[in-house]
Amino acid sequence: MYDDVKGIIFNIQRFSLHDGPGIRTTVFLKGCPLRCVWCHNPESQSPFPELMFDEEKCTGCGKCIEVCERGAIVGLKNTKVKILRNRCNACGRCEAVCHFEALKVVGRVITVRDVIREVLRDLPFYKNSNGGVTASGGEPLFQPDFTEALFRAARSEGINTALDTSGFAKWSVFERVLRVTDFLLYDIKGMDPERHKRYTGVSNDLILENLIRADRMGVPIFIRVPVIPDANFKGDDDFRKLAEFLSGLESVERIDLLPYHTLGEPKAKKLGRPFIRFREPDEAFLAKFKEVLESIGLRVTIGGLA
Ligand code: SF4
Ligand code: SF4
Repeated sequence: MYDDVKGIIFNIQRFSLHDGPGIRTTVFLKGCPLRCVWCHNPESQSPFPELMFDEEKCTGCGKCIEVCERGAIVGLKNTKVKILRNRCNACGRCEAVCHFEALKVVGRVITVRDVIREVLRDLPFYKNSNGGVTASGGEPLFQPDFTEALFRAARSEGINTALDTSGFAKWSVFERVLRVTDFLLYDIKGMDPERHKRYTGVSNDLILENLIRADRMGVPIFIRVPVIPDANFKGDDDFRKLAEFLSGLESVERIDLLPYHTLGEPKAKKLGRPFIRFREPDEAFLAKFKEVLESIGLRVTIGGLA
């Protein structure tokens, strides 16, 4: 039974207004085959639970050191501790004893049944707004059995489904999930193949091919474009390439330009990872990008807001 299928998630967000039509519950799955250097959800990348450590909150009480059986936390009395990440297995014992909420394990195993129970709490809101459930991440196609089962369960309750994906998956896997998807939120992270590989770790060939295939299936598509002016979309040439590509598709309903921001930085720090800062796009840059895309007759928003 698909209710028993298990997945690993890091968040369930209710009353989400930017992850598809209407009021939605967004389920964030862990694990992603891409490594976008601008990622604002760095805790989504690894498919396993991870420990986040907020150094600012640590008082140096040392309780966590006492309970860690793997010697993964070190420090002197009354000084902030240090996490030895190669020893940590994210067991969560330290989180349980830290009174200052400096430690938190992100990622938990959950069944589709338990996710749906949470999703059903807002059923009246979905009905009144054409909302539903969105699978996001991370990359939901990284856990295709869980995502497919979640969507089947949602549909059996009369709840519509939206898939928020980078499109980087085998077509056979993608197609299976698409068959139970009502809205497709599709990221395009760049048109230049070399820069796409440099900044995300993978080529954009498969992503663009899969978008053409998905378009033929007729599921309404919302394109999402992270805009990082010194990296993925640098100016007119890049804007035009995207417009040309999208003008050949028939199921695209809207394009959301998502201006780069640095909200991922504190989370990267808590995970002990480096974070590269880019310049944020200014209004004129975004307006120009919008204008080029609108010239092919598509509805374009900045930040998902009309
Ligand atoms: S238990 Fe919390 S506050 Fe105390 S040393 Fe560990 S992380 Fe710091
Ligand atoms: S999560 Fe477990 S292994 Fe990792 S530091 Fe905390 S107690 Fe140690």
